[in-house]
Amino acid sequence: MTVSESSRTLDVGALLPDGRHLIGGEWVAARGADTIAVLNPATGEVLAHVPRGGEADIDDAVAAAADAFPAWRDTNPSVRAQQMQAWAELCREHGDELDLLERLEVGRPKWGPSPIPGILTYTAGMADKVTGQTLPSAVVDVLGMTLREPYGVCGSIIPWNVPGALMINDVAPCLAAGNTVVVKPAEDAPLTVLLLAKLAGEAGLPEGVLNVVTGYGGEAGEALSHHAGLRHMSFTGSPETGSRVMAACAENVVPVRLELGGKSPQIVLPDAPLEKAVPTIVRSITLNSGQVCAAGSRVVVDESIRERVVTELAAAFEEVKVGPWYEDVDMGPLISAKQEQRVLGYLDSGREEGASVVVGGGKLGGDGYDGGYFVEPTIFDEVRPDMRIAQEEIFGPVLSVLSVEDEEQALEVANGTRYGLVASVWTSDVGKAVRLARRTEAGQVSVNTLWSGGVIGAPFGGYKQSGFGRTVGADSILEYMQVKTVVIDGRS
Ligand code: NAD
Repeated sequence: MTVSESSRTLDVGALLPDGRHLIGGEWVAARGADTIAVLNPATGEVLAHVPRGGEADIDDAVAAAADAFPAWRDTNPSVRAQQMQAWAELCREHGDELDLLERLEVGRPKWGPSPIPGILTYTAGMADKVTGQTLPSAVVDVLGMTLREPYGVCGSIIPWNVPGALMINDVAPCLAAGNTVVVKPAEDAPLTVLLLAKLAGEAGLPEGVLNVVTGYGGEAGEALSHHAGLRHMSFTGSPETGSRVMAACAENVVPVRLELGGKSPQIVLPDAPLEKAVPTIVRSITLNSGQVCAAGSRVVVDESIRERVVTELAAAFEEVKVGPWYEDVDMGPLISAKQEQRVLGYLDSGREEGASVVVGGGKLGGDGYDGGYFVEPTIFDEVRPDMRIAQEEIFGPVLSVLSVEDEEQALEVANGTRYGLVASVWTSDVGKAVRLARRTEAGQVSVNTLWSGGVIGAPFGGYKQSGFGRTVGADSILEYMQVKTVVIDGRS
């Protein structure tokens, strides 16, 4: 099946069996037989139905993953890598469908080439490169070494904002390490995850290695995070849910890796290269309608250039084209009515707390917008660090501008939230760049660029309540392995 660039619809039924998820290589309905409708957020139309999985479905999936584990663990790691490379190749071949399906369920415009085949290829290559150590010994005939081994059955809970890449970031190193996995995608956007799992099967990954159970967080998600059969859990989502998942895993002493939210600062110093900073900041908060954990949602700007920066940002915001994803637009709708209410609530809160709206500030209605969850890209100026719009993750296209007097205060404000996911520093002074990169509390700090800025294998993850553990990069596979020490006494 081919999908033309101008296609507005995709025959989801031809890609995925309606109302089924994947357990032990079989496409099955939920044990309870209920389904959840997946909506197109630009129109409110039903795209497909997925099973409303619960405890019994999670039990089945964990059992299937446990059955598949010994053989997958013991597979020659080079063969594991080859099977995952074949999966990457199929994702490349089906790139248009994968991309269009994600755009349909999330409501985003096209972004350019999908990162999925690249992440899979990179990560698959690690499967046969993990090594242990030989250890010094007090006795020459006693040999000590460490082995790195997979945990066993892992859980993976995925959010709705960038479901394909976030699933692959997590599942690829997990499987490359020799674990098997049960994935619980978000109820709002589970289809891309299901299609990726289908392609994994077609690429030859053995049955039960990768299982997907769809369902609500409070049902399938709770059942997975409480499951005694898990050996490792990985969660990507909000800090509140992450904390619940961690508490559930604590009952069974299951280690957890958390990728949580952000309130990422864009620190703009007086000598910042504004011609580069302004369009980058606009992109960082309008991409995916601001529904990005690493969105640059706070501009921390030196007062001496604040007015100029705000004027330039406002002019650029006015140019952002908003509409259904199939038009030539920069920004689509929010994912759901619930998310729209959340963002509109923050717009009210910003006004009530005394920030001034520079551009945007409300819902978009009328032709092309009715039926979808469209909110204007918005800039708030005169934001104080204690306001909710400066502290809380909005997960929408809302930029808060905070003015500071000097570098010291810039750091204090930038570091003054519970989050620490990413940050950008904009300056032409290498000394300031080094100082701020060192002292900004974030898992990733970029100078004069955004996020990884094209660097391959840049580890990603949070400080503080943005979580812990790292995806992406050469060490990501180690997150999914445990160390065994082996001592062999060769003396008779
Ligand atoms: P969420 O926490 O509501 O949901 C995330 C996932 O958890 C979904 O699959 C959901 O069904 C499941 N879930 C919900 N309640 C659960 C429970 N009680 N037990 C187990 N699972 C449960 O988050 P969201 O609204 O889907 O996503 C937005 C959040 O995710 C934002 O905070 C965003 O910053 C964060 N996020 C972080 C990253 C990252 O890499 N750091 C990436 C994307 C999104």
